[in-house]
Amino acid sequence: SAYLDLWPARATVDLDAIADNVRALREHVGGTELMAVVKADAYGHGLVPSARAALTGGACALGVAQPSEALALREAGVEAPVLTWLVAPGTAVAPLVSAGVEVAVSAPWLLDELAETARDLGRTATVQLKVDTGLGRNGAFGLPLVDGDPRTAWTDLVEHAARLEAEGAVRVRGVFTHFAYADAPQHPTVRAQQDAFADAVAVAERGGLTPEVRHMANSAATLTTPQASWDMVRPGLAVYGLSPVPDLGPAAELGLRPAMRVTARVAVAKRVPAGQGLSYGHTYVTPRETTVVDVPLGYADGIPRHASGSGPVQIGGRRFTVSGRVCMDQFVVDVGDLPVAAGDEVVFFGPGDGGEPTAQDWAEAAGTISYEIVTRFGPRVPRVYV
Ligand code: PLP
Repeated sequence: SAYLDLWPARATVDLDAIADNVRALREHVGGTELMAVVKADAYGHGLVPSARAALTGGACALGVAQPSEALALREAGVEAPVLTWLVAPGTAVAPLVSAGVEVAVSAPWLLDELAETARDLGRTATVQLKVDTGLGRNGAFGLPLVDGDPRTAWTDLVEHAARLEAEGAVRVRGVFTHFAYADAPQHPTVRAQQDAFADAVAVAERGGLTPEVRHMANSAATLTTPQASWDMVRPGLAVYGLSPVPDLGPAAELGLRPAMRVTARVAVAKRVPAGQGLSYGHTYVTPRETTVVDVPLGYADGIPRHASGSGPVQIGGRRFTVSGRVCMDQFVVDVGDLPVAAGDEVVFFGPGDGGEPTAQDWAEAAGTISYEIVTRFGPRVPRVYV
């Protein structure tokens, strides 16, 4: 489109890959239900198209962090169950209750607020209780603070929820938790958190709750710890075809296909002499007369500045690395004597089957994880769906 022609770069998202990845993940866990995690603009892939693709692939529900993400799905007409798990004090919960969005609850104050809102609206608020089994992040802490004392923040939350459920103000549809070390399946906390979750579920059920969905497995646990699947798995990264555990091998071996491919057009190509410093601080100096290309994407677009001197790209079918520093809107690459012209394509990453770098390669070049690479692309990188 004319609009797209204004932008020098794009992220092409293969929606069939997202649907196929959901199918492959469900098959991997013997058909267990799957909530596709689509927070952070579906890990940078675009919230609504990615959510629809995941549902096409057989996801039964969608998970997001922030309430605004859940409401954006509803506004787009997505009717599947949506769970939002980061509702901060001061958030208006009425739109969530009205839209039938499920809210994850870690503490009694939110239950009270949802119950009051539900009563005002003449509805029932659907919630899922979050138990902290050892991640030490959100969730009601489920382990006793004093040895031998059966009371925990979790037992209090369960009692509170059971009272409100009996009144009809809330319905506890699920209980869930999140792993700290799922990417290291042999780590002792993986076993310990599964045991703690089983205890927490038992506390909830003894307390009179009847959760339909009990879930704990993110992508890494879905792939490596199928015994943690319970009623539903809850992967994010793997839905987009990326491996959460680089040691597990490339995504293709796991039956996953990376959905995102990021490309740009060379803005300027020119010959420079030997001894020319490139980009701010001249951290790269040309060893001989060479062709230098300017690529119009920088750290404001999500290209990590930490990948200065190391980020891999493919130009004309060959691999190069970023020469010198990544700037706000651009960076340069010394391509030697390769005949490259302005307008030629630069591939940042893709599935890797055409010899191009992968998001994991970029993560390693920047000292980070592939999650951060795909979620960082900003508004100057339009998403194009195929
Ligand atoms: N569940 C919760 C509560 C999360 O916060 C996340 C993401 O961090 C996920 C599931 C999905 O994790 P992953 O992308 O590693 O599969």
